[in-house]
Amino acid sequence: AGAAPRRRVLVVGAGPGGLQTAIAAAARGHEVTVVERETVAGGQVRWAASVPNRAELGDVVRNQLTECADLGVVIEYGVTADADCVSARRPDVVVVATGSRPVRPWWAPPADTPAGSRVVDVLEVLRGDAEPTGDVLVVDQLGFHQATSVAELLADRGCRVEIVTPSMVVGQDLGVTLDQETWWIRAAAKGIVSSTDRIVNAVNPDGEVHLMHHPTGATETRRPDWVVTVLPYAPADELYHELRRRADEEGIEVHRVGDAVAPRRIHAAVVDGDRIGAGL
Ligand SMILES: Cc1cc2nc3c(=O)[nH]c(=O)nc-3n(C[C@H](O)[C@H](O)[C@H](O)COP(=O)(O)OP(=O)(O)OC[C@H]3O[C@@H](n4cnc5c(N)ncnc54)[C@H](O)[C@@H]3O)c2cc1C
Repeated sequence: AGAAPRRRVLVVGAGPGGLQTAIAAAARGHEVTVVERETVAGGQVRWAASVPNRAELGDVVRNQLTECADLGVVIEYGVTADADCVSARRPDVVVVATGSRPVRPWWAPPADTPAGSRVVDVLEVLRGDAEPTGDVLVVDQLGFHQATSVAELLADRGCRVEIVTPSMVVGQDLGVTLDQETWWIRAAAKGIVSSTDRIVNAVNPDGEVHLMHHPTGATETRRPDWVVTVLPYAPADELYHELRRRADEEGIEVHRVGDAVAPRRIHAAVVDGDRIGAGL
């Protein structure tokens, strides 16, 4: 594409989606600023890369930050953008890359009850907001690195870990990244138990977990000390929708990329960002 008129582009969120948007837009010659509420970049990748055997995943973001620096992208940390903050900056274009957030499962007791407080999301564990001990049941509906990573982390800390999945194998998508065989070897060495073809039907107020083997309908119970959930996230898209409501009035072009569109994976966030940024 030919050179575009230079525009002021504001990107909200310095995860892989936001950073790739910034790179592609800056490469087109635009003036790009990224605002990030945390003090470091990376979004969920930061936590994904923080567990055993995943450090190199952080290269994605490290490489993006190098490209951003080379292209003169300004990144402001510790800035939580709301719609007023975006309007006040008067960009020509805003790209919302605010990621996604956990959804509390319907079967979990309220979080402010004793049993409910021990049903936590994988990110709470990786961030250190929850510190499971003893017997831990990891409930996985994603089949990717999230569950296997947190299982290994907790096994390394001395927990007895069981992963429950509705799928036929634990970590079914690890084959895509050639990680499945090595995961099975490490899981066996760490005593991590895999229970497949099972869904959670309920967690009682006393913490008892009711499982169902879905091919047969047979039911089972567990009494873990903690339940760690790895379930589909929801887009963090409130800012996007608020900005869209104001867009005509304020004359700001609004886009969104990555998990803020639909929670997926890094590749999807990077492709989204590249397409939107290169199209400006
Ligand atoms: C434990 C775990 C392991 C994973 N492993 C993999 C894997 O192996 N491979 C893979 O492809 N994917 C993996 N994923 C998924 C992947 O990390 C996400 O799909 C990806 O990070 C989404 O990128 P994003 O830029 O859209 O959003 P995010 O990474 O969520 O980044 C959003 C950023 O926006 C910032 N933000 C939000 N709101 C505001 C605001 N109002 N103002 C300023 N900043 C704001 C956040 O602080 C964050 O930095 C994993 C996820 C988790 C949780």
